Amino acid sequence: MTKITIAKGDGIGPEIMDAVLKIVKASGVNLQFEEVEIGEKAYLSGNSSGISPQAWDTIRKNKIFFKAPITTPQGGGYKSLNVTTRKALNLFANVRPCRSFHPYVRTKHPELDIVVVRENEEDLYAGIEHQQTPEVVQCLKLISRPGCEKIIRYAFEYAKKHGRKKVTCLTKDNIMKQTDGLFHKVFDEIAPDYPEIVSDHMIIDIGTARLADTPELFDVIVVPNLYGDIISDVVAQITGSVGLAGSANIGLECAMFEAIHGSAPDIAGQGIANPSGLLQAAVMMLNYLGENAAATKIHNAWLKTIEEGIHTADIHKEGTSKQLVGTRAFAEAVISHLGQTPTSLAPVQERASGPIVLPKYERKNYSKKELLGVDIFVDWPGGESDHLAEKLQAIETKGVRLSMITNRGIKVWPNGFEETFCTDHWRCRFETKNGSISKQQIIELLKNADEMSIDTIKTENLYAFDGTPAFSLGQGQ
Ligand code: NAD
Repeated sequence: MTKITIAKGDGIGPEIMDAVLKIVKASGVNLQFEEVEIGEKAYLSGNSSGISPQAWDTIRKNKIFFKAPITTPQGGGYKSLNVTTRKALNLFANVRPCRSFHPYVRTKHPELDIVVVRENEEDLYAGIEHQQTPEVVQCLKLISRPGCEKIIRYAFEYAKKHGRKKVTCLTKDNIMKQTDGLFHKVFDEIAPDYPEIVSDHMIIDIGTARLADTPELFDVIVVPNLYGDIISDVVAQITGSVGLAGSANIGLECAMFEAIHGSAPDIAGQGIANPSGLLQAAVMMLNYLGENAAATKIHNAWLKTIEEGIHTADIHKEGTSKQLVGTRAFAEAVISHLGQTPTSLAPVQERASGPIVLPKYERKNYSKKELLGVDIFVDWPGGESDHLAEKLQAIETKGVRLSMITNRGIKVWPNGFEETFCTDHWRCRFETKNGSISKQQIIELLKNADEMSIDTIKTENLYAFDGTPAFSLGQGQ
């Protein structure tokens, strides 16, 4: 018998998990559940990651994890367990189907039927943050070629397998030319392998605006991690409630299924939460396990319940809904409809979703990599860029010259504007006339800076790969 690890989580977690497990068990599917405790209790008992080593062992042994939302305590050095779990188990694809149930759930977008495929391991969610000066903190945005290839190919394979017609990529590569630029580039490389699927790219800001206005333009969407987090909440909410959507976190070995929403502390303990998001996640899990008959039975019973107007408070509307119910009564209504199909909404016939097999990543031949210069970041509260430039010119060494200073990315030397506001965090670019620099020269620059009491806080090497400079210019350069 397949054994699933479950966690009841925090806030509304235990209420919605109990309701969903009751429905799953009533469907007759033969699964065994092994519970672990994660989240707030684990955080507060001293595990800053929100999970004990024993719970990890159980999750890794069973490979399938069904999880209710958890609360990540604010501040205090607590890391998000959701992010840790996705990354530690290599759950690279976060698949979030959202659709409207017009006219039974009120929505401005009756045609909405979208699957958001969110990259799950990279981007700003690397969680690498530092305070570097009294005034400035930074967060590293990491995007890798293997990460892009995996998620973008997954999105196309998903579209192919589920009969979807179009994949749209959303990035902000007009601004982040290296990071989002790589995601877009890999999308353009992979799309031609799927000629039967329409592909397009939009800048994330106008893409999100269109999504909120005319979601019927979209089918499958593939996005880097942070954008995916935001737009999947937007899409779920405009179907009627964020409480309606489930999500599958898919890896090569393990999978985790959860609702897309959080632990909703504002309504916890009141018995009014909508268990539908977690139930959709359960349906995705059953399909993943090949339990399509149970998945179909539950999904159709749920559609029938929605169609009959038996609604929780988040989707209940006078005129559309017939009966306002709490979490438990909603689950009982679904159970009473097991074996029935909806009459007006289209009944579903679930198919095995199983794992999508991706080609093994092949590292490309190593590009020619040249070191062209260095950005030395300096903590300096002085405010006057000409004065800083004078100090930095005094540390120049053997043909290495100060070529530019920026503050928060905008060029302030040479020829900056008086109007530009400057913080205490300066990027100081050093380059040579012949266009290459050695590591030894960088070390000398840093040594000279130290001797002159210039507070260097970090360096970034400036590289060219196969002759193409691979770093950003200063804004205004
Ligand atoms: P949230 O999704 O918990 O709640 C947002 C709003 O939606 C609230 O008004 C809430 O009442 C409502 N809502 C959410 N789910 C609902 C449901 N099933 N039925 C009815 N209404 C529902 O987002 P938040 O308030 O920003 O986050 C609360 C906590 O959840 C935070 O600690 C956050 O870190 C955590 N969180 C966890 C996960 C997860 O475990 N996967 C995801 C997101 C947020």
